[in-house]
Amino acid sequence: MSITLQTRLSASIWEALQERSRTSGQSVAHIVQMALAEALDVEHHSIFQVSTSGAIVQGLYQGCVTVADLRRHGDLGLGTFEDLDGEMILIEGRCFQARSDGTVVEAPDDALTPFASVVNFAPDSTAEIENVGSLGDLTERLDGLRSSKNGMVSLRVTGRFGSMRVRTACRTESGIDLVEATSNQVVFDYEDVPGTLVGFWSPDYAKSIAISGWHLHFISDDRAKGGHVLNLAADALHVELNDVNDVHLAIPETAAFLEADLREDNEEALQIAEHDGRRIGASS
Ligand SMILES: [Zn+2]
Repeated sequence: MSITLQTRLSASIWEALQERSRTSGQSVAHIVQMALAEALDVEHHSIFQVSTSGAIVQGLYQGCVTVADLRRHGDLGLGTFEDLDGEMILIEGRCFQARSDGTVVEAPDDALTPFASVVNFAPDSTAEIENVGSLGDLTERLDGLRSSKNGMVSLRVTGRFGSMRVRTACRTESGIDLVEATSNQVVFDYEDVPGTLVGFWSPDYAKSIAISGWHLHFISDDRAKGGHVLNLAADALHVELNDVNDVHLAIPETAAFLEADLREDNEEALQIAEHDGRRIGASS
């Protein structure tokens, strides 16, 4: 959701805004948004991350943060639910659960998540992308829009998707690792569906906390279809990127997490479970 604000400014504030825009290359709207966020204590460049990719790879699916808490920390994001029960899509402040039977429901505020990433989305830049042939094609072009190989990015992509392949995780007992759990994933193919991708790009160095590379979830405009994106195609997409320079990590206080051995390198498991065995998105 974005709102148009009309207001009166003094000449000196207006001049200072224009000067900052000239020197920084940022739009006036962006500078105003960031200044307001700071004044009002809204975390615009901060990811709120629940648990770690290392923990989810090991099968620590016990919920530890409520949907209500997540919504206090962001209006856009993704994740999963307790017992790996489907895929989470947080969009415009509403939290949806894409389930393994192919349905999408709005998650109640007291639902629990064992792993999620959310952000108060305020785009720093936008782009139009045309003739997208595959997910790999899209992520390659998104890589060209990132300003750094070391910063994190959140994004929202809207448009009509000629094809969309998503998976939803199936409810799984804790302790069954993510590779095994997602070998039972359910895959859905949709055609000609208008909707939104929400997601993040995280650098390799963050791989034990976040899912490195691009990680995208989809929800249709009618909020009836959704999941973790495996492939797609689209004629024209509107891309919005939000740079992130701060991560707030919620460490689960579950006994399973506190006692787990999380030293193992999870890269290979994440590639299989989250990227369908393929590397998506360049690492630079
Ligand atoms: Zn996912």
